[in-house]
Amino acid sequence: MITNICACPFCSSNHLHVTHHLVSYSVECGTCKATGPRKKSEFDAVVSWNVLSANVELAKMVEKNDLLSRVAQVENAVQQLEVNLYS
Ligand SMILES: [Zn+2]
Repeated sequence: MITNICACPFCSSNHLHVTHHLVSYSVECGTCKATGPRKKSEFDAVVSWNVLSANVELAKMVEKNDLLSRVAQVENAVQQLEVNLYS
């Protein structure tokens, strides 16, 4: 009935459960208490959680690649300074 729930994108925990509110459902992380969007069905709550998880993982990758590219720029700038200093 329920598709697989992706691990928590914030703490990597698999301790996840679907919580039933009065008229909605959401996925909650039992470890860090992160909560997914509230939806009218358990299935939609899980799908929304998985989309959220994928987006957060993607954002982390983009952020990491951006940081690596900035580090490379700084390294190049330092090398250029050294070339200018010692030539
Ligand atoms: Zn978590």
